[in-house]
Amino acid sequence: MVYEAIIGLEVHVHLNTKTKAFCGCSTEFGQEPNSQVCPVCLGFPGSLPVLNKIALDYAVKVALALNCKVQEYSKFDRKNYFYPDLPKNYQISQYDLPIAKNGFLDIECNGKNKRIGIRRVHLEEDAGKLIHKEDISLVDFNRTGIPLLEIVSEPQINSPQEAYEYLTSLKSIVEYLEVSDCDMEKGSLRCDANVSVRKEDTQELGVKTEVKNMNSFKAVKEALGFEIERQIELLNKGKPIIQETRLWDAKVLKTFSLRTKEEAQDYRYFPEPDLPPFVINQDKIEEIRKTLPELPQEKLWRFVRDYGLSKYDAKILVFLKKNADYAEDCIKAYAHTDKKPIVNWLIGPLLSEANSRNCDLTDLKVSTKDLVELVNFVENQQISHLTAKSVLTEMVDTKKSPVAIIQEKNLIQISDADSLNNVVEEVLKENSSSVNDYKTGKSNALMFLVGQVMRKSGGRANPKIVQEILKRRLTDA
Ligand code: ADP
Ligand code: MG
Ligand code: ZN
Repeated sequence: MVYEAIIGLEVHVHLNTKTKAFCGCSTEFGQEPNSQVCPVCLGFPGSLPVLNKIALDYAVKVALALNCKVQEYSKFDRKNYFYPDLPKNYQISQYDLPIAKNGFLDIECNGKNKRIGIRRVHLEEDAGKLIHKEDISLVDFNRTGIPLLEIVSEPQINSPQEAYEYLTSLKSIVEYLEVSDCDMEKGSLRCDANVSVRKEDTQELGVKTEVKNMNSFKAVKEALGFEIERQIELLNKGKPIIQETRLWDAKVLKTFSLRTKEEAQDYRYFPEPDLPPFVINQDKIEEIRKTLPELPQEKLWRFVRDYGLSKYDAKILVFLKKNADYAEDCIKAYAHTDKKPIVNWLIGPLLSEANSRNCDLTDLKVSTKDLVELVNFVENQQISHLTAKSVLTEMVDTKKSPVAIIQEKNLIQISDADSLNNVVEEVLKENSSSVNDYKTGKSNALMFLVGQVMRKSGGRANPKIVQEILKRRLTDA
């Protein structure tokens, strides 16, 4: 039996406003537990919430970037449940009238483009954080009331890889908007994955499970892979899928049942009486739309068009805005019409330096000016590509300029034929058998001879010129 996986993702992002969603408490991360609380976020009787306008603007911004229809009329609702991290015993959220609906996100998976529908975007508040020690549990309410944006996809994702692409694209967009740091380790981006399977060519959706507790996109991918297999196995055995919430355990790479899934009616949603419904008029929406920056997709195509990057390379560079900005500064500072050389250095040696150090391009702290200078040395054939790569490594390690390193180590190539002729003659004398090999048609011998000249010159000979001189000498004689 062939099954198809159906996945819908619920992503929560912390909005990086200075103060909480409904009170003036600071949202700063990592402070003394319970030092950023007040009667409002602790739910003291008689305290009243006031909506943070910036949080609302940020929510609209994200909604517009995700091609959603921002609703002119919206309201907050109470979602009631009892849990120790929820001091009010309800969460202010949005139920039937979310801020925005019906958007989409375009992803690319295995070379194919796909549009994933966004069902809704709504604003809510975060709960506190429980810290479990051996035999006690502690609660920190600093996180309580931090504005959260929930972005819910349609069930239109069909593989763990597509889910991964959706999440990376979404994160990239939200980061470009600068409304969240999207740091999964700090919990400022979280993802719940809903998944079901159905026989291929059937229309009806299968029973879904909701998987939580993944703390990286890789974990989401693994958890989905596991869950799809688990469900298919059950169905093949003729057993039912139970609608439930399951937790991913990254140590054993399995999901475990946490609880059977609540239905909306379990939460007793009702309109939040302390916050009036609100209207976001068209002028306001257009005003916010004007503040949208160039988004990753647009930037990608512009890089392809203007700088001759391949789509693949452009995708790597635009994912993080800071990398894209750095790359573009370098490209602009490179004063030649053909941008290929600088682009190749960015996505070649510079990116490998970053990868081998497990950091981003910009963390290497190579200034635009230094990178351009290095590339110019290579393009003017003053140093070889190979030498330049080791200069780059040293630039990153020591923060010295390429000029300083090249002068200090005397790395400028010898390109002038007169200086190279002597070395070439010596090498020809010492390697008569290779000379014969070449003359009898073994063209590999030429590269060997070039290598010998390079060695004798302490790596400073210009290999191109050496090759030319050798060729001429070997055919002349
Ligand atoms: P719930 O009320 O359980 O949260 P929703 O209908 O609001 O469920 O959907 C939550 C998420 O689950 C959405 O992202 C949606 O796309 C996804 N989803 C809904 N039904 C299914 C299904 N049968 N299989 C996979 N995902 C689903
Ligand atoms: Mg849900
Ligand atoms: Zn507060």
